[in-house]
Amino acid sequence: MCKIKRMSRRAIAILMTLSFASLATDDVEPLTTGKFSYPNNARNAISLSFDDARNSQVDVAIPILNKHNVKGTFYVNPQFAMERLEGWKKAVKHGHELGNHTSSHLCTGNFEWLRSKGQGLEQVDLAWLRKDIESTTAFLQKQFNITPLSFAYPCGNTFVGRGKQVKSYVPLIAEMFKTGRTWLDETGNNPTYTDFSQLAGNRMDGMTFEEIRDMLELLREDNKWIILAGHDVGKKGMYTVDKDALEALIVYLKDPKNGFWLATVNEVASHIEEYRTK
Ligand SMILES: [Zn+2]
Repeated sequence: MCKIKRMSRRAIAILMTLSFASLATDDVEPLTTGKFSYPNNARNAISLSFDDARNSQVDVAIPILNKHNVKGTFYVNPQFAMERLEGWKKAVKHGHELGNHTSSHLCTGNFEWLRSKGQGLEQVDLAWLRKDIESTTAFLQKQFNITPLSFAYPCGNTFVGRGKQVKSYVPLIAEMFKTGRTWLDETGNNPTYTDFSQLAGNRMDGMTFEEIRDMLELLREDNKWIILAGHDVGKKGMYTVDKDALEALIVYLKDPKNGFWLATVNEVASHIEEYRTK
């Protein structure tokens, strides 16, 4: 009798542990694991993104994308975009996605040349940053009649303030946009796990096609969504995507046997969102 009682207590304890364990698992990973499904049975999704709205994106990158009928995501800084306004309007008509990249492009003040009126992210607060982001959205609405759903953190920095006063601005981006992309993350995005407000981004500046292809092989496990990010496009350099590498990459990604679905950040996010709500 006593033994049975002890056993049933133990069984209850085990059951409780199991249900807590499953609760904890649900908190961390809300979705079932297993093969994730992308359009065309692709193993991975991939997005090509470009930051700042630099002139060479209109002059060099977009003609390459258009030639191969693929769409990119361009995170816009209004000052830069004004230099090729008509080109950007045509890009929108072609179906390319424009996102928000702030007006001030404020990063850590360690990038001295990127300080705005002498200040870096260390000297501003969330209210200041919100206005800066809203002014970029207002620019995109006025010039292109679009309200951006995608955001890229300048320099990949996600904070304001210094030391004990530091605050994350990730919650602000989560409130204002469907997605936020960071930079130099060395990982892809697991579709069943990734946080849309901190999507991982990987460099494609300064790389040969072969180097990019090898990096994709390393990043592609678990049906990951890989987001590549670049700046200028032309002859490869520290902040310049090599235009021949970009074209070779597009040809490679479009070949179904390589297993990639190439789409804009918002298209892939919408696909994953739909899967998550099923
Ligand atoms: Zn930038």
